[in-house]
Amino acid sequence: MKLFNTQKELSNYLSAYKGKKTIGLVPTMGALHKGHQSLIEKAKEECEIVVASVFVNPTQFNEESDFEKYPRTIEDDSEKLKEVNCDILYNPSVEDIYENKNLETEPIDIGYLDTILEGEKRPGHYQGVVDVVERLMIAVGPDKIYMGLKDYQQVMVIEKLIKERKMDVTLVGCPTKREKSGLAMSSRNSRLSQEGKIRAAKIHECLKYITTESRSTTTPSKLITEAKKQHLDSDYFDTEYLEIRKADDLSEVNQNEWIENQKYVVLIATWLEGIRLIDNMTF
Ligand code: AMP
Repeated sequence: MKLFNTQKELSNYLSAYKGKKTIGLVPTMGALHKGHQSLIEKAKEECEIVVASVFVNPTQFNEESDFEKYPRTIEDDSEKLKEVNCDILYNPSVEDIYENKNLETEPIDIGYLDTILEGEKRPGHYQGVVDVVERLMIAVGPDKIYMGLKDYQQVMVIEKLIKERKMDVTLVGCPTKREKSGLAMSSRNSRLSQEGKIRAAKIHECLKYITTESRSTTTPSKLITEAKKQHLDSDYFDTEYLEIRKADDLSEVNQNEWIENQKYVVLIATWLEGIRLIDNMTF
C-alpha cells in the first residue's frame, strides 16, 4: 500500500491513471474497524485503484473537545487497510487540506437536510462534511465514492453535493456493519465502558422493534413513544431524536397513519456515557 501525506504527491501519482483505471475513494476519519473495512472491500470489488483517506476533519465537529478526544490510531489504521488490500492511504494534515489553493471550494446550499435531524442538532456539521468531501474528491478525482448508510443523512448530503456540482462520480451507499450484539460499529464505541457497550445494544433492539412491530395495531407516533419507553431507559440514554421519516428524501411522515408501499427509515441519535451514538434502519 502506498502512503501519501500531501495532495500534490497524491494527485501527481494518480494523474497517470486518470481515465485509464477506475478510482474508488473511501473517506474516513480513521480509528478504523470492520465497518470501514467493508467499504474498502466493496470498493476493491468495483474499482482498480482504491484510495482510503484518513483525516479527522476539524470543521465538522461542533465541540472542540469532541474533536480533540476523537481517537487517532494511524499505525493501526494502516494495518487495517493493508488487511483488505487497500491500494493507497491518503493521510493529509489540516494545512494540506485547508491551506491549499488546489482544493478551494465554494459553499453549497444543501437545503432542508441542513436543518433536520443531524443538521438541526449539529449546526454547521454538514457544511464541514460537504467541504472536506469535495476537497478530498478534488485531490483524488474518483469515479466512485463509498460511504456508509450508518450515516444515512450524510449519504443524502453527499448525493446533493454531487448533483449540485454536476460531478461525474457515483456514490455507493454501503450497509451498516454491526457487532454480534447488534450495536452499529463506530469509532466512538471504543470510548464506551464494557457495561456501556452491552447497554448500547438496546439502540439496535429499539430500531428492530420499530421496524418489525405490526403497523396495523399502532400509529408511527405511538410506536416511537412505546419504543423509547421499552428500550431506551432514560436513566442511561439521553435521546436527541428518534424519528420515522420517508426513506427516499427524509421528509416528514404522517404520524397518525401508515401509508401502504411507503418506504420508511427510523433514525436515532442518543447519548450514552457522554458519547453520542447514531443509528438507523429502513423498513
Ligand atoms: P467515519 O470515519 O466515522 O467518518 O466513517 C467513514 C465512513 O465509514 C463513513 O462513510 C461511514 O458512514 C462509514 N461507516 C462508519 N461506521 C460504519 C459501519 N458500522 N458500517 C458501515 N460503514 C460505516
